[in-house]
Amino acid sequence: MIDVILKKGRDKSARDFHPWLFSGAIDSVGGRPQPGEIVRVLDDSKSFVAFGYYNLASQIRVRLLEWNEDHPVDETWWRERIAQAVQGRRTLAAGTDTDSYRLIFGEADFLPGLIVDKYADFLVVQSLTAGIEAVREVVIDALVEILKPVGIYEKSDAELRRLEKIEPHVGWIYGASGADVVAIRENGLLFNVSISGGQKTGFYFDQRDNRRIAAAYAEGLEVLDCFSYTGAFSVYALSRNAASVTLIDASDTSLAMARDNVALNNLKTASAAYVKGDAFTVLREYRDAGRTFDMVIIDPPKFAPSKTHLKKALKGYKEINMLAMSVVRPGGLMVTFSCSGVVTADTLKMVLLWASLDVGRQVQYLHTLSHGVDHPRLVSFPESEYLKGFVCRIR
Ligand code: SAH
Repeated sequence: MIDVILKKGRDKSARDFHPWLFSGAIDSVGGRPQPGEIVRVLDDSKSFVAFGYYNLASQIRVRLLEWNEDHPVDETWWRERIAQAVQGRRTLAAGTDTDSYRLIFGEADFLPGLIVDKYADFLVVQSLTAGIEAVREVVIDALVEILKPVGIYEKSDAELRRLEKIEPHVGWIYGASGADVVAIRENGLLFNVSISGGQKTGFYFDQRDNRRIAAAYAEGLEVLDCFSYTGAFSVYALSRNAASVTLIDASDTSLAMARDNVALNNLKTASAAYVKGDAFTVLREYRDAGRTFDMVIIDPPKFAPSKTHLKKALKGYKEINMLAMSVVRPGGLMVTFSCSGVVTADTLKMVLLWASLDVGRQVQYLHTLSHGVDHPRLVSFPESEYLKGFVCRIR
């Protein structure tokens, strides 16, 4: 096995279980590892630090996998890790209310670069790195053996693969193909998910708990669901007897699916309105026309993909939160999110303060929100906690 030797004093973050080793920490490499090859990482005095997989093309030169020198990273290791991640979801899997969720969440499941989502009897796999590419067959075999899915779809087309210099792979790779729309169950509600055509891997499982928390307030309320995608927040709200829901999304296809999802759950279709457009523009129009709601949900796409985008992103978050606050009736609710990893919960709270001062409305927050148990986080890897949100009352 090839050794990767760290510079003096640069073993700290690796020893603190941070899974990313950047190129700047590396002193020398005892050979030319193939993209994704397992290497042994040693400190400057040649003591063992961890095993990981290597990719010369990436600034994250090594993703660390195993800190115990007696546990080499072989096929058995991958199978065990996958089995452990699946086992970690057993409380979710135990009930009949939810049959779809994230099974493997990359680094936070000690499997850097690998995302696996379960959609009823189907799996969607995302391989993000050369290291996962190198064990692709082992991973697929293990998933088939452990979960016995009807079909597996691969959606390895993330931007990250470009940085890893690996080609995209998209399509059915196992079992039943052509099952494009899969009906899933989440907290007892049904959703049609387009596996090949949808965003992310098709559905935003990370919001499952938050949809329930928000919907608990919805009875009798006029709800505005901004960035609705396929309408999950609205379906929950209607199921808890919201008076009406208005969905705004930029995508026609997503709104059409939202309409199907409302009907699929036998909810009052007449109580739902669908608005295709830019949420910023539509909210501005509502504000200027004096149109208001009892609850406004804002779940925008990631405004800050990285630190360099932070300043611009914060402007965007401030603007959208100001607009949302302006259309909440006095004493009404705003449920607000950021899914940008680089925006911390404290930063989002500060953005809410800026917005609150600009619109002259006071903001109480009732719930602090993040992603659910199928998206675990690591204390050694704060990057694993990307979703932040608050349920707020706007005075
Ligand atoms: N709340 C959704 C997930 C939202 S994902 C859920 O629970 O499933 C973000 C959504 O915002 C996507 O559907 C995307 O089409 C939409 N979007 C992106 N930019 C937008 C904009 N400027 N105005 C309105 N919708 C936008």
